[in-house]
Amino acid sequence: MKFIFVTGGVVSSLGKGLTAAALGTLLENRGLKVALQKFDPYLNVDPGTMSPYQHGEVYVLDDGAETDLDLGHYERFTNVKLTRMNNLTSGQVYQTVLNNEREGKYLGKTVQVIPHVTDEIKNRIHALAEKSKADVIITEIGGTTGDIEGLPFLEAIREFALEVGYHNAIFMHVTYVPFIKAAGELKTKPTQQSVAKLREIGIAPHVLVCRCERPLDKDLRHKISMFCNVPLEAVIEEKDVDHSIYEVPLMLQRERVDELVCRLLQLTTPAPNMTHWQEIIRKLIAPQHRVRVGVVGKYIGLQDAYKSVYEAIIHGGVANDCGVEIVQVDAEDIEKNGAEKMLKGLGGILVPGGFGERGIEGKILAAQYARENKIPYLGLCLGMQIATIEFARNVLKLPKAHSTEFDANTPNPVIAMLDDQKRVTKKGGTMRLGAQPCQLTVGSQAGQLYGSFVIHERHRHRYEFNNAYREKFEKAGFVFSGLSPDGKLVEVIELKDHPFFLASQFHPEFLSKPHQPHPLFKGFIAAAHLRIHHVPL
Ligand code: GLN
Repeated sequence: MKFIFVTGGVVSSLGKGLTAAALGTLLENRGLKVALQKFDPYLNVDPGTMSPYQHGEVYVLDDGAETDLDLGHYERFTNVKLTRMNNLTSGQVYQTVLNNEREGKYLGKTVQVIPHVTDEIKNRIHALAEKSKADVIITEIGGTTGDIEGLPFLEAIREFALEVGYHNAIFMHVTYVPFIKAAGELKTKPTQQSVAKLREIGIAPHVLVCRCERPLDKDLRHKISMFCNVPLEAVIEEKDVDHSIYEVPLMLQRERVDELVCRLLQLTTPAPNMTHWQEIIRKLIAPQHRVRVGVVGKYIGLQDAYKSVYEAIIHGGVANDCGVEIVQVDAEDIEKNGAEKMLKGLGGILVPGGFGERGIEGKILAAQYARENKIPYLGLCLGMQIATIEFARNVLKLPKAHSTEFDANTPNPVIAMLDDQKRVTKKGGTMRLGAQPCQLTVGSQAGQLYGSFVIHERHRHRYEFNNAYREKFEKAGFVFSGLSPDGKLVEVIELKDHPFFLASQFHPEFLSKPHQPHPLFKGFIAAAHLRIHHVPL
């Protein structure tokens, strides 16, 4: 078994996760079984309790783990199925070590960062290796080299590489080569210093992936090679992509990074066949059709908050050979300016998941606008609850209808807390989480789109449709097209007499990949595109 450790230098947000995922794509296409893992040095046990402003989206796995959004890249770029084993935080490490200490597992010893914390980190790599039976494990270390909190992780991977031996582990450092406008030059000094920082702790990178806005010329590559002590061929250019993040695997392939990695790890494999991937890129760069859809949220302008939603929309576009322009609409702007002004001309409207009251009324106006003007609507989790509240208020004429999340005293709680949640007092990891089965109704639009009637989708919520209102809704044309197998929980709703108005209590965006676009997003973009081109559905 072989190990690749991916670290980052100079600044955060360099796209280490993407680089790790893209390398995973290439290695998988060389016929290797790959596993990917992310270490996060913060002290939260998981990112589930963090605001999207702090952390971006929380990515949910089948087993209900709330994880870092880089795990979303891993699942989208490869065929790996991740579990909570694949994301480790300092919080988890310390929790385990402290529990062990209380149980007396270290009796007689002083418990220290080295070896107890570092051993715990190494254990997690071994555990994944054993469970995944992968040929290659790619472990990404979050944060930036030089961060105090990242040190135990770097020490652990240094020791780990030593223990598994030469040719079995390599270090890949993703670094930044900025272009300084005033000088008109790319500068290598930050990279040199970042590598020096790594070497100080005993890690000499084998491969340097250089993120840059402009191409690295030969002289610059020589300079980086010389000063950072890596062979020339291991200085990899990773320029900003022109169109799409899905170009990254092809870019790395052109730089022969997969070939180099395999050589360093003594893996003999055929060259990867990336033709299907090239076809995806073709559809992204030169699609036959184009459409604009609006995403109505409250973390607008924060690229990472709805990461998987944006990606799944793009995949829906790929499935329809349709380029999608995503218009990010701030729900509070709808409250100020009205729906017509903010949403006119869009092919489709999507309301994603969310928590808290801010922007709720704007989202309700967006759902109303979509329903009344027959604009395709896709609601995800909160987006389904919003569609329900809107229908109750404007069709069922219950003007004070609401979710008890936002108005505990509403006379018409059409969305209410899940029974199981009423006993919950702690906030971390306690929502209804992870993959749950759902039964779709024969003849429903959801059933047609999925092409099957039992589906499994990922959840993350505390509130649900209030069954006391089912009959009333049904009579007015609100269709419950997906239910939990016991029939108790509403999972998918749709509207009769509307070309496409569909919403789910789950998060379909977590299961979409560029090469396997999710059926709901595929259907949504098809409907949006048809509407704009006036073709009746
Ligand atoms: N806040 C809502 C709930 O807890 C919706 C959650 C979500 O959109 N993920 O049920």
